[in-house]
Amino acid sequence: MLKLFLPNEHVKSIFEITPQSLVDKGIKGIITDLDNTLVEWDRPNATPKLIEWFKRMEESGIKVTIVSNNDEKRVGAFSEPLQIPFIHRARKPLVRAFNKAILDMGIKKEESVVIGDQLLTDVLGGNRGGFHTILVVPVAQSDGLATKFNRMVERRILTIFKKQGLLQWEDKK
Ligand SMILES: [Mg+2]
Repeated sequence: MLKLFLPNEHVKSIFEITPQSLVDKGIKGIITDLDNTLVEWDRPNATPKLIEWFKRMEESGIKVTIVSNNDEKRVGAFSEPLQIPFIHRARKPLVRAFNKAILDMGIKKEESVVIGDQLLTDVLGGNRGGFHTILVVPVAQSDGLATKFNRMVERRILTIFKKQGLLQWEDKK
């Protein structure tokens, strides 16, 4: 049961995920979380470095959809200037939004990856749906109110994974 929280891969930041590494694996589309995955949860817009990352993905033919549990105001204001499709109020860990994202991108599940910073929403949802999941270290140490409880549970699961040697995680504190 705990295995459902174990990501297929984990990276320190999304910038470790390169277009070439995805293309090599036959990946054609990215489903990514927004808050504390792409930018800090309280940063309204993309950073220049992130804009460059999106551009390089596009140039390599990798599609991106932002799938967030946050509201339309937040997710739309972030995604629209970048002209990146988004799904707000995705209700992760429910799988429905992930399935909609691959349908909209016109790709198969095996051609997609799910990226996010939370075990209880991004990883659990992706794993339940049979997607390849990539966990990133949260961009910020702080979280929005809705995430604080999830983080408490997440810390306990991460501790178990670490003890079992399943996931090496750096404590920043
Ligand atoms: Mg997040």
